[in-house]
This record gives sequence, structure tokens and C-alpha cells, in this order.
Amino acid sequence: MTRKKDGDWKPTACCLCLANCGILVQLGGDDGRSIVRIRGDKKHPVSRGYTCNKVLQLDYYQNNKQRLNSPLRRNADGLFEKVDWDTAIREIAEKYMSIRDTHGGDKIMYYGGGGQGNHLGGAYSGSVQKALGIRYRSNALAQEKTGLAWVSNRVLGGFWHADLEHCDVAVIIGKNPWQSNGIQRARIVMRDISKNPDRTLIVLDPQRTETAELADIHLAVRPGRDVWCISAILGHMVQNNLVNIDWLEANTSGHEAVLKQLAQVPVEQYAEFSGVPFEKIVQTAEAIGNAQGVGVYEDLGTEMAPHSTLCSYLNMLIFLLPGSLGKKGGTNMITGLNSLFSSVLGHIGGDGYEVNYPTSPVTGSRIVSNLVPCNMIPEEILTDHPDRFRAMLVESANPAHSLADSSRFRDAFEALEFLVVIDVVMTETAELADYVLPAPSQYEKYEATFFNFEYPVNTYHLRHPLMEPMPGTLPEPEIHARLVEAMGIFEEGELAELQRVAQDSRDQFAERFFAESSSNPKLLAYIPYVLYRTLGPALPKGADSAAALWGLCQMFAQTHPAHVRNAGYGGQGFAAGEQLFTAILEGKSGTIISREEFGDPAYQFPKEDGKVALQMKEMNDELATLADYEMPPLPDDFPLILAAGERRSYTANTIIRNPDWLKSNNPTALCINPVDAGRIGLTDNATALLTTKRGSVEVIVEVSDRMQAGTIALPNGLGLSYPDADGNRTVTGASPNELTALEDRDPWVGTPWHKYVPARLEAL
Ligand code: SF4
Repeated sequence: MTRKKDGDWKPTACCLCLANCGILVQLGGDDGRSIVRIRGDKKHPVSRGYTCNKVLQLDYYQNNKQRLNSPLRRNADGLFEKVDWDTAIREIAEKYMSIRDTHGGDKIMYYGGGGQGNHLGGAYSGSVQKALGIRYRSNALAQEKTGLAWVSNRVLGGFWHADLEHCDVAVIIGKNPWQSNGIQRARIVMRDISKNPDRTLIVLDPQRTETAELADIHLAVRPGRDVWCISAILGHMVQNNLVNIDWLEANTSGHEAVLKQLAQVPVEQYAEFSGVPFEKIVQTAEAIGNAQGVGVYEDLGTEMAPHSTLCSYLNMLIFLLPGSLGKKGGTNMITGLNSLFSSVLGHIGGDGYEVNYPTSPVTGSRIVSNLVPCNMIPEEILTDHPDRFRAMLVESANPAHSLADSSRFRDAFEALEFLVVIDVVMTETAELADYVLPAPSQYEKYEATFFNFEYPVNTYHLRHPLMEPMPGTLPEPEIHARLVEAMGIFEEGELAELQRVAQDSRDQFAERFFAESSSNPKLLAYIPYVLYRTLGPALPKGADSAAALWGLCQMFAQTHPAHVRNAGYGGQGFAAGEQLFTAILEGKSGTIISREEFGDPAYQFPKEDGKVALQMKEMNDELATLADYEMPPLPDDFPLILAAGERRSYTANTIIRNPDWLKSNNPTALCINPVDAGRIGLTDNATALLTTKRGSVEVIVEVSDRMQAGTIALPNGLGLSYPDADGNRTVTGASPNELTALEDRDPWVGTPWHKYVPARLEAL
């Protein structure tokens, strides 16, 4: 490996979690395409030089044996054969159009659009969806965040961000930021709160995680009982005047009913049922109730367990009851270039329940944030219902591996009439496809995410390519553009005038574009494609993919003029949007896009009446059932509770498939409490058979007193196949989703209970 001298450092970002830390890398290797050195980029406005250990392994993503370099078509023998791009695009367009014309475009589903580092390509899929009349889509957020998105939109009118850097009290629920990150500068922020005697770190987690060890208060709740623990905290706050009644009266509606309900919570009984000592509930409630600023962060530990949507609602009450919304050190509503969590809501019926909300075509499941619940997808395919999905387009996603109950997904994908996968590597989903279209890696093209969740200063990072694309690949925006063209949506020369003006000046382009779009609505209907083919070629070489950001910048400058102006972009007409776009295009280490004022009521209280809708009838009614709720007993043959998919120091998402990146001692091990291990006859590194109602898998065991008795945990992101030295595909670790069940899911939004899987373990 050739080592480069200082001076060759190139700015980009880590794509292994949603923090997307800014990094500097040096390239080397025989062909100069290996990422050989990596360090944090101090110029990045959010991460400011921070990285975690995982980033050092990025080259395992960039260079691996499963990269694709040609479109593939499945032949009559069921094998893949290479085809040229023109053939692939033409045949794919023809097949999709045939399904559209025969059955309707709503029978084609779009899934994916990016993972934790790559959303830019998916932004162009909208034009293909439009051309085909695709109505339904989904992605992994619909197995994680849709419960939170639903209650956030109903109660607050948008999405929120905890100011963990400045809060007095941080409440971390179902998350171990020490390993899973997600929070910017996670370890520094957690350690700062932990060390400061004037601040309090509260962690709710069944396990004694690294973050729980830092906590002032660790609420070691029994698995599946978070909701009783949180209700007890809120109940104690209300029953002991630890709520900010003046703030609630001034800023919320429905607070009387909610406070009345919480006043009835039998706190001691709920505490006992949750497994958390009453004294800790009191200590927590007092810390929250007396704080100036409360920051709450919930994640998959609670979002993938029973009562998950109700927990998300109650978690908002943790910062709302003390009036900790819209202030420094509290929780704030955020605005980004493109909201991932906005949702079309129905209207509220006479009983207080939402009605006329969007639903999926076969099962009638609630659609939140425009996403069909992931757990429902097989049921939307494996049926003879006339409205079933008959075809899918999967982009930058691996649902056959990453969603619950992999075998049911494999059955569903095999039942489709047509499946196309766009990806960088041959994934488990691509293996099931009729066509596979190869894309360059995230470091071979312009790339970005829409995880811009910061407040009051928000940022955007458009990453520039580090190297030329792998030959034979096409970036996703080009694939989408060619599909639109193969479907004959625009006539030849229809965009010529816009293309000509774009070459002259972007100011003139803006005027021309908006003038033409008023007489030709197709320009707006297909805006990603139109911008890509008109403005794109006028951008610096290879930056065509950034063209859609120009449209987003113009919209953002129109809807948030003061915030954009405060960030330094001003002027009349299209000038602010243009300046913002230029700054993003040129800002290789990330760009500040907006500066807001704490507490601005127009943005902190975005609902029509300017108030927080504290009461959400569906949730209040479910809360009322807790007192008489009978926890279903674990089946006799499944006495343990498996957390299927735990972030560890060498797990991230599944974009790193090469097992060589696993550096720790036991990266694939199933963790188990010493008492349970002794009872079953297991010691460290023993082999055991793990069984759930959906399947069995052999595991290596690690005995750990971090685990609560009766619980076991498997790491996430494993069970991927990768060629060994002889070229034979081998699977490393257990795939958690071979063990999870579709039907074990949240009743409101269908999110799976990956953290509560009844299981048994037998020594082998
Ligand atoms: S994994 Fe997350 S926290 Fe770690 S370097 Fe990458 S983006 Fe940053």
C-alpha cells in the first residue's frame, strides 16, 4: 500500500451512521483507489473533527470483491448475464410500462433510495415514479421511525431535535450512543454530561451499556416494559407538581385531559412492574421536573419493542411537561432542506381519532411519512388481491436481509413479476432480481444525505467524489434519467432552451425555469429529471447530480428567508437560493445553511393554532389500558428475550460486507447473562443453537454481566455472504432477521419488535 504525503488529504464524510462525520482521507494502493488514511475534518461545521473507531475501516466498503461493473439480466436458466446499458434500460422500461399499462402504476412499488450516507441519487427516483404512476413506496425508516414521525406530526406539527450539547438533563431511551452514534460527537457529548455535576445523564436501557455506565441514573427496565417505566416518571411529575403548568396553559391544547390521566397513574405499581426501583423513578422525575432544559433522544431499543408508538408519544411528554420546547438546552423543532419525516395526516374525527389517513392497498395499513410499513410488504405481495404489488424497484437498499422475517421477504420477491435492483454490490436482494444495475460507490460521485437535523445552526454536506467512478457503473440520477427518456416522457428538444440558458447563467435559468413551468406543468412534475438534464450539464464536471439541490435551495430560501439570511445568503428574488446553492456546491467540508433563533414561535409551534396538541386520543386511550394490561407470558419453549440487532464497535449498516473489518474479539457473538449461561451450560466461546418461532441459527456465545438475566443479544449487520480466499461465498455471523417474525409488530404503524423476540438457546 503506497502511503501519500500530507497535502493529499481530501474532504468527505463517513457513511456508516447518520452522523455523517466530516473526514479527511488520503488515497493510495496500486491504483490510487484505496482509502489508506483517515482523520476527522476539523472544518466540518457539525462534527468538528470528531470520528469514532468505525470510520477507519471505510476502505472495506470502497474496495471489495462484490462490486458490480455491468448491468446484469437474469436469463432463461435463472443465471445472471451481463448486458449493455442501452439494452438494460430499454428492456426494464418496457417491462415496467407493460405492468403499468396492464395493471396500473400503483402495482409497482419503490423501495429504498439510500441508507445512512447516500440520499442524493434517490432524490431523482421521483421522476421514474411519476412516469410509471408509482404511488407506494417504503424504506427502512418504516421499520424504525414511523411511530415517532406519526406522533411528532400529530402533537408538534413536525420533527424535533434535542440540544444535548447544552441541556441540564439528557434522557437517552433505548440507545447506546457510545456504540451506535447517531448523535453528533456522541462520545464527547455523553462524557461531558456525565462528568458535569450540574448536569444529569439518564439512560433507559435493559442492558448496562457503555452509555448506561456513564449515566447518573440508569433505568434498567425489564425488556418490553419501557412504557410502564416512562408512565411512572410522568405520573410522578404530575402528581408532585413537577410540571410547568404556566407553559402548558400558554402553549398547548388538551393538557388538562393529559394531566388528569397522568395524575391517575399508580406510580409505585408501574415502577415495580417495569423492574425499575421506585426511588429511581422519583429521582428521574425530579431531575426532569427541575431542569431548565431537557433533551430527549429515543432510538431503536424502544422503537422496536412493544408499545413503541405509545412510548414515542410519552417520550415527547418528558420534554413537554417541563416546558422544554423551543429553548437552548431543550428540544427544538427543526427545519432541513428536505424533511424525511413529514407526513400526510388525515383529519381528526368526532372521537378524537385520526380518520381518512393514507393506507396501503391490500392490508389497509397506515402510511406514515409516505412509507408503507416494511413489515406489511410481504402481505401486500403474497396474495391474490387485485391491488397487490406486482413489481418493485429497489434502490440502494437490501430489504431481503435488513427487514424482519427474511424468508418471507424472499418468498415475496420471488412472487413478483418483475424486480430491478440498483446497487453498488451484489446484495441478498440483488440476487433475487430480474435485472441488477450497478452504481458507483459513495466515494466515486457527488453524494449527500438529508440527515440535516441540527438546531439552531443547520448544515448540509455535499461530498465531492474522491476518485473516478468504477468503469461500467452509472450514477443513480443518470439511471433514472435514462429510464425516464426510455419511457418517452419528454419530446426531443423540449428542454433545449432551458439547457441553453443554464449554460449562460443560473440567474437567467431560474427566471426561465419558473416562467416556463407556469405554462408547462410537466417541468415541475418531473423536476428532478428536468434539473438534472438542464442545469446538471452546466455544473462542474460530474456534479450533475447536485442539480436537484438547486431546486431545494430555492424553495428553502423562499420558505425560511430570515434563517437563510442569518446564515449569510441574501438578496432579492432568486439571489438567496442561488447563493445558498453555490455555497453548498463549493463547500467541500459542509456548509451552514440556516441560523435560527431559539423560541421563534412561527417555527417552534408550527401547527395551525400555534399550539402543541398535547392530547392524542389514540395514545391516551392506549395509555389507559396499561393499568389492566396482562403481559403475555413468554412461551414455555422460548423462555429468553432476544434483542435481534445490537450495535457494537464493529457493526454499522450492511454496506461493509467484508468480514475482515470485524476487529474486536468476539464481533459476532451472542451475549448472555452469566446466570442464564450457567443454567444452560454455556461458557465464553461455546457454540449454541439459537431458536425462535421463525428459525434456528448456530451462534458463538459471549458471557457478559452487562446483560440482564433472561435476555440475550445478537449484533446487527451480520449474516452477510462474502467470497472467501477461494472465491466461495461464506456467511459470517447470524442474520438477525432470519429469526424475527412479521406479525410481531406495532399495532399502529407496523414497526417490528426486533428487540423483543422470544427465543431459546441450547448448548451444542
Ligand atoms: S460511524 Fe458515525 S460517528 Fe462513527 S465516524 Fe462514522 S459517521 Fe461518525
